[in-house]
Amino acid sequence: MRVRLDQLVISALQQGSAVPAFTCYDFTTALAVVGAAEAAGRGVILLVSPSTAATRNGLRLIAALRGLADGAGVPVAVQLDHASKLRVIADAVSAGADSVLVDGSSLDYEDNIALVRAAGAVLDVLASGGSGAGSEIVIEAELGGLAGDEDRAFGSGAAGHAPAAGFTDSAQVEDFVARSGAQLLAVAVGNVHGRYKGEPELRWDVLQDIAVRTRIPLVLHGASGIPAAELVKAAAMNVGKVNFNTELRTGVLETLEACTAAHRTDGENLQGLLADWDASAGTFAAAALATLSR
Ligand SMILES: [Zn+2]
Repeated sequence: MRVRLDQLVISALQQGSAVPAFTCYDFTTALAVVGAAEAAGRGVILLVSPSTAATRNGLRLIAALRGLADGAGVPVAVQLDHASKLRVIADAVSAGADSVLVDGSSLDYEDNIALVRAAGAVLDVLASGGSGAGSEIVIEAELGGLAGDEDRAFGSGAAGHAPAAGFTDSAQVEDFVARSGAQLLAVAVGNVHGRYKGEPELRWDVLQDIAVRTRIPLVLHGASGIPAAELVKAAAMNVGKVNFNTELRTGVLETLEACTAAHRTDGENLQGLLADWDASAGTFAAAALATLSR
């Protein structure tokens, strides 16, 4: 069922839980994630990479995810992840995305705020355009630099030790939230995209400093590789949304590698292979849902 992403996250936080968000490059993975959420009786967030959304088929995937979310037995939000191009944002929202991470984190502070405001203005124009797209669209913004690459696991040069300069500056949080108009805030506290080299070192002290400066929910990206024992602490710091991508891809690719030959021998059984894909992604999503739920 359709839900505002901020309301989904806030109601989870009120119960001491956080909502997992999973990058879906394809419909099979999305079906597995929604199936796991329905089995758990919990809401979930489907993320679409901007590199996916920038293509015609990517926009068709968003439209398909919209239908999947609306027809689900639990609240499901569809978010365009890490977008910095207004054209892609407008196209994705028109295709059915109900929230956007407007990512100006690589820009100067003022330019970051300006980008988030510009995206908000684009959504207002869409909302007034008669199609209804753009109204009720939730904006997440990002403050502080996250190392690594969202779509490829080898891109992280941060080695799990992001430079202090990349951390979210808690002194900026109040002003940033007020002026950008963001409804959720992604933070950099030692988390990275891709694979951690060595043990992740989340700076809970930095997170705590941020959490006391704003009332909007915080978001932790790059959760793959962060131990469950750490993730369970997130909701207490007002982290209501946790993004997963790398581990999901790892599991699916391992499964495909291990199972393809047998299904080929079994009469070119593509349905069987898809069932294994579904089980891999679904098992991972179920574990993340359980970890973050109280
Ligand atoms: Zn991210």
